[in-house]
Amino acid sequence: MVTHLPKPKACSIALVDAIVAERASGRNATFFNGLAAEWRKRIKYYIAEHGNPETVPTWSKATDRRTSFLTLYNTPRKDSSQLPILNQLRDRTLRFCPSCGEEGTPNTLDHYLPKEQFPHFAITPLNLTPMCDICQGAKGTKTTDKSGRRMFLHPYYDEFLASQVVHLTIGRPFSAPNDFFLKPSPDLPNELFELVDRHINGLEMECRYSKFFRDEYIRLLRLSQEARDAGDDVRKDIQKFKRMHEMRAVNLWPHIFYDAVVKNQELLDYLANGDLPAML
Ligand SMILES: [Zn+2]
Repeated sequence: MVTHLPKPKACSIALVDAIVAERASGRNATFFNGLAAEWRKRIKYYIAEHGNPETVPTWSKATDRRTSFLTLYNTPRKDSSQLPILNQLRDRTLRFCPSCGEEGTPNTLDHYLPKEQFPHFAITPLNLTPMCDICQGAKGTKTTDKSGRRMFLHPYYDEFLASQVVHLTIGRPFSAPNDFFLKPSPDLPNELFELVDRHINGLEMECRYSKFFRDEYIRLLRLSQEARDAGDDVRKDIQKFKRMHEMRAVNLWPHIFYDAVVKNQELLDYLANGDLPAML
């Protein structure tokens, strides 16, 4: 699930100034000089609004000259100001996708506000987050739902992501559960509950992660059997696993899975005393 990320160090507004200065004598000098003040203003507004597509408008001057902006992102010059910043954002030190929690280094940079509709944010560091290919494919150029409400969580700005925002329910029968239901945390205020719900659905998480939950559940059955065979306390072992995953990040899937197990007394009873499947 989504993880809060520290904001990039590079200043989004200073980068505009540097780019305009670099173009002072080039082919696009008049174009960039002419819109520099407005460009800065729009980035300040993005920052003030936390990139919210419900309130940040598109800009026809930028969409009319989309290619001039997209070139800054797609083919930056070697000596350009944006290249080292883009390289740093792509430094691949993260070990999971901040938008879905998929394990592994995210392959791509996502434009939170898509560069097609918002080309003037194509190189804005605060609009660029690492993302896995599957999330990027599911997100595409979507920003809001039919009612105009934003669909996706923003890893830099949605600070409530420091707490657990998704809960899992494991369906019966406990010997071989087929259903794993994901829901936003019931502790969230209504507005954030609905936002998390749109994010889960927008990135097709329930269906993407059902196999992960099934595999994790089979491991849990095996661990429980082993603990029982060794005369250990199954409940204590499960708490230990939960704490281990919690220390890494509360919104990563292994923690969400174990959190669901420890909160389910009936399931804990089954794992400690029930008839576990024989083929384990
Ligand atoms: Zn992802």
